[in-house]
Amino acid sequence: MLDDKDRIFKNLYNTGDFGLEGAKKRGGWDGTKAIIEKGRDGIINEMKVSGQRGRGGAGFPTGLKWSFMPKESKDGRPSYLVVNADESEPGTCKDREIMRHDPHLLIEGCLIAGFAMGAVAGYIYVRGEFIRERQRLQAAIDQAYEARLIGKNNIHGYDFELYVHHGAGAYICGEETALLESLEGKKGQPRLKPPFPANVGLYGCPTTVNNVETIAQVPDIMRRGAAWFSSIGRPNNTGTKLYCISGHVEKPCTVEDAMGTPLRELIERHAGGVRGGWDNLLAVIPGGSSMPIVPAAQCDPLQMDFDGCAAVKSSLGTAAIIVMDKSTDIIRAMARISYFYKHESCGQCTPCREGMGWIWRLLTRMTEGRARKEEIDLLFNVTKQIEGHTICAFGEGAVWPVQGLLRHFRPEIEKRIDEYTARAGSAHVHVHEAAE
Ligand code: SF4
Repeated sequence: MLDDKDRIFKNLYNTGDFGLEGAKKRGGWDGTKAIIEKGRDGIINEMKVSGQRGRGGAGFPTGLKWSFMPKESKDGRPSYLVVNADESEPGTCKDREIMRHDPHLLIEGCLIAGFAMGAVAGYIYVRGEFIRERQRLQAAIDQAYEARLIGKNNIHGYDFELYVHHGAGAYICGEETALLESLEGKKGQPRLKPPFPANVGLYGCPTTVNNVETIAQVPDIMRRGAAWFSSIGRPNNTGTKLYCISGHVEKPCTVEDAMGTPLRELIERHAGGVRGGWDNLLAVIPGGSSMPIVPAAQCDPLQMDFDGCAAVKSSLGTAAIIVMDKSTDIIRAMARISYFYKHESCGQCTPCREGMGWIWRLLTRMTEGRARKEEIDLLFNVTKQIEGHTICAFGEGAVWPVQGLLRHFRPEIEKRIDEYTARAGSAHVHVHEAAE
């Protein structure tokens, strides 16, 4: 259990002032100049030692990612920091809490991260539906400019501009290169990699894209030290994490706790438990809807961190825990998720554009049992032809939940086909009997 003193997000529930004064009372903007004076390498090393891994889903080590940025510009191109605030993964609602309740943590983090990677400016790409979040963030940025915490000739001695960009509500713009395209004013479609953004990113310049939570944790890591951060959680899975718990629980919530906190503890202590009790649990998706489902039998011992989720063939993703109790029609739920991905595919790659439609239609028929058993293998085959054969990771994220369904709930699909066939057979007999 996380000690109160170890919390980073002290205004998660908007109990205090989101503005500059409130942020300062909570310890924000304290000693930022001294942090900057540690130098670029000093900050990057501290981040590496802290063991922090990206909080947006992929879990890439932050310090290492920053170290890919050029030390100095040899060709006159500036470097940029881009913050991915296009939080759209179903079940995920953590970055919005930071933007609307504690935006100064993010702004201070942008300055420190921007300095560490030699960026002249930062762009925060906010999801189109987040109107209030954008307004609060912009208000906080205005305060930071006014207090000369950022901008030209600021009190920290490193010139750094910060802009908010409002998206138009496309899920795919959360993919980092689609986000860059969209920022440049183009259609939000992912780019082929390489080149990677650290080399050719925003406006063709070196760019690092980081998640909101990742950047908002940076000031505390630098203030309290890497050793403090890495003392929370376990090796390879350090620090605190915002978990979003939704679905069939008594009290859905977003909560900060230590990495590796057992899933059951998170659900029972913070979310009031599974509706109808733990024994009523059917399954959980631990990391947002693009991650494989975990059946109840594997949920009890599950440690909620990168390695814990990998051990049950799923992934921590955004740590959005979607709880499903036994009243859930699991095939229908997965068909609905597939519809979402079919709808959000940007359409560049044939396997993703066409395949997701096939999957959705097949699953819709399977929901009723209106399918042949051979089609279960066919469905798996289609997922395999999408996975690894597309420009971006959307393809994997779209098919993993379906693969999870087939891995754990195949008997349920077969049962439904049997029931449908039996019903159709008896209807057939009745028709014949009536005709005779
Ligand atoms: Fe677009 Fe899908 Fe291809 Fe990604 S995998 S680029 S979303 S078509």
